[in-house]
Amino acid sequence: MISVRDLSVSFGRGAGATHAVRGVSFEVAEGESFGLVGESGSGKSTVLRVLAGLNRDWAGRAAVAGVDVASRDRRLPRIAQMVFQDPYASLHPRHTVDRALSEPLAIHGIGDAGARVERALADVGLGPAFRFRYPNQLSGGQRQRVAIARALMLEPRVLLLDEPTSALDVSVQAEILNLLKRLRAARGITLLLVSHNLAVVGHMCDRLAVMNRGLVVEEMDVATLRRAAPREAYTRQLLLASRGYDRAVAAAMVSFD
Ligand code: ADP
Ligand code: MG
Repeated sequence: MISVRDLSVSFGRGAGATHAVRGVSFEVAEGESFGLVGESGSGKSTVLRVLAGLNRDWAGRAAVAGVDVASRDRRLPRIAQMVFQDPYASLHPRHTVDRALSEPLAIHGIGDAGARVERALADVGLGPAFRFRYPNQLSGGQRQRVAIARALMLEPRVLLLDEPTSALDVSVQAEILNLLKRLRAARGITLLLVSHNLAVVGHMCDRLAVMNRGLVVEEMDVATLRRAAPREAYTRQLLLASRGYDRAVAAAMVSFD
């Protein structure tokens, strides 16, 4: 469902250039949940932005559902949608929830907006009363639910999730992660989840790739992660940094295994 081959992305030119992604390759099967982890600045968001079509300046190959991302094919937004880290920045402050959710439908010429908006709100656990609210009338968790609902409006096959809970309180994080698990189970959506936190990925994903300084340094399944047996010292260090968090979130997570 997702194929990334030898992807490279640089910002700027010459001696001052940042080589954010340096020859990254990975594959994600249909219905799989794949994690991309690594500390801040390792290039995770850049990979996601390429897949979402938000970065045009890259080398290598990237495809979703067999459609080359470089083609800028009109079907791409209906295949893969991105959810951003900061739900405070990702919703327009002067647009109602109704407008935020209707917009993708209008752009793609899909009718029956009202019913679809109400259904989408229900799917993310928000009642119809939320439809005409503004972002400043919502909590952080509610905003992220709206952002997820918006990403689902075109019924994509892939969700690209960029640290979707790291701006939220720990209790709210687990709610959003549970919601994403439920959506995946109900719809068979393929998830590509970026996180700097291995505990979150351990709860959400089947496999993961570890990035460091623009490179994938290790790829493994979650069983290996749970045995705390990653090969690379860098990964073990990330695991240690995620431990305290692990207990707090694990207590609140629903298991769909
Ligand atoms: P991560 O998501 O893993 O924290 P990013 O993909 O955001 O990492 O960033 C990787 C590197 O690319 C960082 O050094 C960052 O500063 C740089 N970078 C990302 N986006 C831009 C941009 N638009 N312009 C210049 N540098 C950028
Ligand atoms: Mg990032």
